[in-house]
Amino acid sequence: MPKARVVVVEDEPAIRRGVSDALRLSGYEVTEAADGAVGLREAAAAGVDLVLLDIMLPRRDGLDVLGELRRAHPARPVILLTAKGSEDDRVRGLKMGADDYVVKPFSAKELIARVEAVLRRTMRPPPEVRLVEVG
Ligand code: CA
Repeated sequence: MPKARVVVVEDEPAIRRGVSDALRLSGYEVTEAADGAVGLREAAAAGVDLVLLDIMLPRRDGLDVLGELRRAHPARPVILLTAKGSEDDRVRGLKMGADDYVVKPFSAKELIARVEAVLRRTMRPPPEVRLVEVG
């Protein structure tokens, strides 16, 4: 698996740091953003493989960021980081094209598992494991 590039958009410093550290320990390349405006810029940048997107964000909320990102990159993988009880936001996010969500508080283990699952679905395998047609 090539080293995937993940953008973490989360305004809560402790959560942002925890998530980013867990991803880096798992071998991912991480860019952090603390608000929706910076988050959208980073999430829309070239070469990003996955975006972890909080919904309640300063400057632009996560669903606004998701909508804008979808216009530019319809298939870029997004996992929403959502608060307990915000079912309407989760449903709206999924309808807007989010690939998955995790509900806070979540463990690093669960988050990494979801990141891996989404990347398995969306990233092309590296050439050496690509199936070769025989005959
Ligand atoms: Ca937040």
